[in-house]
Amino acid sequence: MTDIEIARKVTLRPIERIAEKLGLPTDAIEPYGRYKAKIPLKYIDTSKVKRSNLILVSAISPTPAGEGKTTMSIGLTEGLNRLGKKATVVLREPSLGPVFGIKGGATGGGYSQVLPMEDINLHFTGDFAAIEKAHNLLSALIDNNIQSKTTSLNLDPRTISWKRVIDMNDRSLRQVIVGLGGTGSGIPRETGFDITAASEIMAILCLAENLPDLKKRLGNIFVGYTFDKTPVYARDLKAEGAMTALLKDAIQPNLVQTIEGNPAIIHGGPFANIAQGTNSVIATRMGMTFSEYTVTEAGFGFDLGAEKFFDIKCQSAGLSPKAVVLTTTIRALKYHGGAILDALTTENLEALEKGIPNLEKHLENIKQFNVKPVIAINRFVSDTDAEIDLIRETAKRLDVRVALAEGWAKGGAGTLELAKEVVEIVEAATEDFTPMYDWELPVKDKIKTIATKIYGAEHVDYTSQALRDLKTIQNLGLEGLPVCIAKTQKSLSDNPKLLGRPKNFIITVRNIEIAAGAGFLIPITGNIMRMPGLPAKPASENIDIDDQGNITGLF
Ligand code: ADP
Ligand code: MG
Repeated sequence: MTDIEIARKVTLRPIERIAEKLGLPTDAIEPYGRYKAKIPLKYIDTSKVKRSNLILVSAISPTPAGEGKTTMSIGLTEGLNRLGKKATVVLREPSLGPVFGIKGGATGGGYSQVLPMEDINLHFTGDFAAIEKAHNLLSALIDNNIQSKTTSLNLDPRTISWKRVIDMNDRSLRQVIVGLGGTGSGIPRETGFDITAASEIMAILCLAENLPDLKKRLGNIFVGYTFDKTPVYARDLKAEGAMTALLKDAIQPNLVQTIEGNPAIIHGGPFANIAQGTNSVIATRMGMTFSEYTVTEAGFGFDLGAEKFFDIKCQSAGLSPKAVVLTTTIRALKYHGGAILDALTTENLEALEKGIPNLEKHLENIKQFNVKPVIAINRFVSDTDAEIDLIRETAKRLDVRVALAEGWAKGGAGTLELAKEVVEIVEAATEDFTPMYDWELPVKDKIKTIATKIYGAEHVDYTSQALRDLKTIQNLGLEGLPVCIAKTQKSLSDNPKLLGRPKNFIITVRNIEIAAGAGFLIPITGNIMRMPGLPAKPASENIDIDDQGNITGLF
């Protein structure tokens, strides 16, 4: 059965029943139809947040298909609830680009899904649309200011880094000229479109504490320079009030349900390569307010999403995860051990053995944060007993917990072993996690710490552009911001071809972008795509709706 067929067989509970399960009065939520609702921010209770246990689901370096973190997060939440623990999964919202492109939706798979998957994957409660509007309002204000004779800030159009956004994979919008059509239609200048999930506003929404903090961060967005080199921020265009007004509902987290009727909170969906790549601080805190166990995921491998989760999100929001679930697939380890993509479903103990150093490095990295890991083997039908045994032996040798997780095939019944391991780690945990670096360190030292200790690099090289960017950061007084390194997810290094556990490599920082509103710097170490394209045969070709309104082809 396909994911959507499994999803359609489930009888959904009215969203009020899910709210009750959380412990929220039914009139507290704002229903969007019968199966989705917004939860007002006033229900966050910081004293309860402190008592809740946060579990981070991460992964080894992934293959292009994704190793199943979302599926694992949902499955683990079902398993914890079966053990009698009050558990909630807190996830990111899907972007339409991947839904119609190659990857498909982001609502889990098999018997570990969040529902209604059609709605969550398509428009949901309109948060992405609101973010897009707030972003494009600032873009319109910028071009309007350049046009104006009376209110002009004297912006140099060549320095403006703020573009426009749309939630679609559309490569032909990457670079555009706006303002064509004569004196009444603006000043022509070169700009472009990014996908909405890559907007700085998405990152801001995900890190904001509350409405006033959201407004302040929106005002801090760096737009560009005037002709006499004065920095211009969104607040100089008086943009932040109207932008915040557009986001008044989008800032509230969304409540939905899992296949087994447990609460799921879904909110925010930033790119994990150029932004911190996890759901909103608000959603995490909401989940923690109402549950003993809150399970969340960070994008890509542990070196990318999880490092940023700890060093940026947890430090900024004062969160301290109690355990890391390292999603591990036998197919990805074989890939790291030299097997080709087409041969990952045949037993190959030799390649598996050769791929294990990748797993080992991620485990070492988790320990550097002073948090206990459990290896969760995400079981695929093609995995053989001998291959699974090899991972179990490795875990024994490394003295790390391990569990076979079959949430995809069996839902919560397939994740009980994992759930028990997680509970044991949490019950034995005593200390808080330790971040990798202090935000106050010089920018180069922050980058060096991550590159050498987490990626395993020898040292870091800077292009002349990157050195110029460092000067700009100094001039703007932004050296105290954390670093959100943009790097390929395919390798621990910045070269996607170096699989396994690469050694003796150099990380090259090509430039450093500034996200002053979100509150981080983005050292870029490779080709970063902010506007993906569609494949020759897009997933949208298989999506359809019948005369009764049933959707097919979503996965
Ligand atoms: P991630 O969050 O790491 O990107 P997902 O959980 O979204 O990964 O899973 C990626 C894809 O793989 C989804 O289509 C999902 O249904 C599928 N998948 C995950 N786990 C399994 C499994 N054990 N067997 C088969 N397919 C799986
Ligand atoms: Mg995911």
